[in-house]
Amino acid sequence: PCMVNKFKPVVTGEDLKAKLPDYPYIIVDLMLWDKHIPKEKSKIILQLRETYGVMRRMMWPKMLAITWLNDEVKERLKIPLEKIKAYEGPTSELLKDNGIKRVVLLDPNADEVLSSNDLKEKAFIIGGIVDMKGDKKGTTAKIGEVLEREGIDVLRRKIVLRGDVVGVPNRINHITEILLRMLYGEPMEKAILAVQ
Ligand code: SAM
Repeated sequence: PCMVNKFKPVVTGEDLKAKLPDYPYIIVDLMLWDKHIPKEKSKIILQLRETYGVMRRMMWPKMLAITWLNDEVKERLKIPLEKIKAYEGPTSELLKDNGIKRVVLLDPNADEVLSSNDLKEKAFIIGGIVDMKGDKKGTTAKIGEVLEREGIDVLRRKIVLRGDVVGVPNRINHITEILLRMLYGEPMEKAILAVQ
C-alpha cells in the first residue's frame, strides 16, 4: 500500500527498505535545530559535514541518516545527499519505515554506559545539538521523549572516559567516530583516545 507521508522524505520508505542494513543506522537528529543561534547552526553544519567525512573514511556504507532535515540545512550542507539517508521527516518515521522498534540514544546525561550488548542494535541516534550559548543542557533527552511517545523503545546510553563524560569530546563527528570504532570492536577508552 502507498504510504501517505506529510513530511515528504527525500528518500521514500520503500527505497530505505530496499537497502535494509547489515549495518546499523547512525542517525543525526536535527529536531532541535530551531533552538540554536546562527553561530551554533553554522557549527552543526560543519560537524555534519565532518560526520559525513568520518563515515566515508571509516567505510560505514551508506548508513548515515540525517532526520528533520530542513531546506536551510540541505542548502548549506554541501554533501551529496543521495549518498546518505536524507530524511525530512521525524526520526520515528525513518525507524518505522525500517521496522526498527528500539534504538540507542547517545546521551551524555544517561544513567547507563554504552555496552557491547548495545552495539547489536539497529540504530544509534546522536543529537544534532551544539552548545555555545549554554542553554541546552539535558536537551538530548528530549529527542528520546519524542521517540517514546511514538512507541519506540529508547536505550539512553553515555560514553565515558574512566567513568566520566568529562574528557569525552562531544562534537557530533567525534561521537560518530567513537561509536564507529566501537562497532568495529575497539574498546571505549581506546576509541575515545584515538579521536582526541
Ligand atoms: N547539551 C546536550 C545535552 O546535555 O543533552 C549535549 C549536546 S552534545 C554537544 C551533541 C550530541 O553528542 C548529543 O546529543 C549526544 O548524542 C552526543 N554526545 C556528546 N557527548 C556524549 C557522551 N559523553 N555520551 C553519549 N553521547 C554524547
